[in-house]
Amino acid sequence: GTLGVPTTDQPQTGKEFTSDQEVRWCPGCGDYAVLKAVQGFLPELGLRRENIVFVSGIGCSSRFPYYLDTYGMHSIHGRAPAIATGLATAREDLSVFVVTGDGDALSIGGNHLIHALRRNVNMTILLFNNRIYGLTKGQYSPTSETGKVTKSTPMGSVDHPFNPVSLALGAEGSFVARTIDSDRKHLTSVLAAAAAHRGTSFVEIYQNCPIFNDGAFDAIKDRDTKEDAIIPLVHGEPIRFGVGGDKGLVRTPGGGVEAALVADVGEDALLVHDAHHEDPSTAFAISRLTDSGYLNQS
Ligand code: SF4
Ligand code: MG
Repeated sequence: GTLGVPTTDQPQTGKEFTSDQEVRWCPGCGDYAVLKAVQGFLPELGLRRENIVFVSGIGCSSRFPYYLDTYGMHSIHGRAPAIATGLATAREDLSVFVVTGDGDALSIGGNHLIHALRRNVNMTILLFNNRIYGLTKGQYSPTSETGKVTKSTPMGSVDHPFNPVSLALGAEGSFVARTIDSDRKHLTSVLAAAAAHRGTSFVEIYQNCPIFNDGAFDAIKDRDTKEDAIIPLVHGEPIRFGVGGDKGLVRTPGGGVEAALVADVGEDALLVHDAHHEDPSTAFAISRLTDSGYLNQS
């Protein structure tokens, strides 16, 4: 989460959070949509821009701090969570965000990410997942699906990908969510929930890279039925889930992390709270986001 100390002298519009820097992503990049959503959402925090800090690593998405009229740091590869941890710990009055990508967060910075999640200091990590290395022109990344043909894997990759949500849950992240660049409304709701959470909020954002991995998320982008929302789990099995109990609480047969993941892409919203932290066997209550809010917060 990133809520800091509200003040009276704060920007009211997204425009006021827009910097004078020329945005240098490729035309059509999903990063634009996320930037717009973040700029639109920041006034909701009710904070002065000097109390908001965006720390990024290296990669296309890590250009993010340049485009916001807040404090920011384009830091070193994979180390944004470490720098942000220091900042958030030393300056509790600041709202600290991390912007990172799948390569930055899960390959180069994998170690820093899991320890940031475990320490659970108050910050929000936004992981832009385009399942490719964009800045270095199209090599496979830790989230590229097995068999991915890229410049660095001309015969198809053999590596098994990370599922970032699974990783965050494994590190016992206290707020884990997934959303997508093309759904502004959902993205904004998830950002708001993440900022309101006290502790480290982890938000994976599916982000289209039209240049090197176009259409990676098309299958879920235009979903209109639950069935359409089913996308392959990293292990290759389609995702199925059942809704049981009351208030929309999703319980899955296994009850563990893997089972939680079975539900995580089933519906619009994919918030996983560590609501039952005292009992690790039921640690993951999954809330489905609806227009009216979260179905289950228990
Ligand atoms: Fe966006 Fe891909 Fe271009 Fe990077 S390479 S700016 S991710 S479209
Ligand atoms: Mg990437």
